[in-house]
Amino acid sequence: MSKSNQFKKPAAEQLKPRKCLMCGEEFSSEGPHNRICRKCKSSQVYREGETRYSV
Ligand SMILES: [Zn+2]
Repeated sequence: MSKSNQFKKPAAEQLKPRKCLMCGEEFSSEGPHNRICRKCKSSQVYREGETRYSV
């Protein structure tokens, strides 16, 4: 008997197309918590880093 060829993928990453709240461009969202595209996110992180430094 042949076993079924099933490629088991990690059931976590379900990317859905969403519109970025900041720039309005569609991007692959990792979930409802993720509404900002990578570009804007990275810029946000950058800002936070800056804030840290200014403290
Ligand atoms: Zn964006």
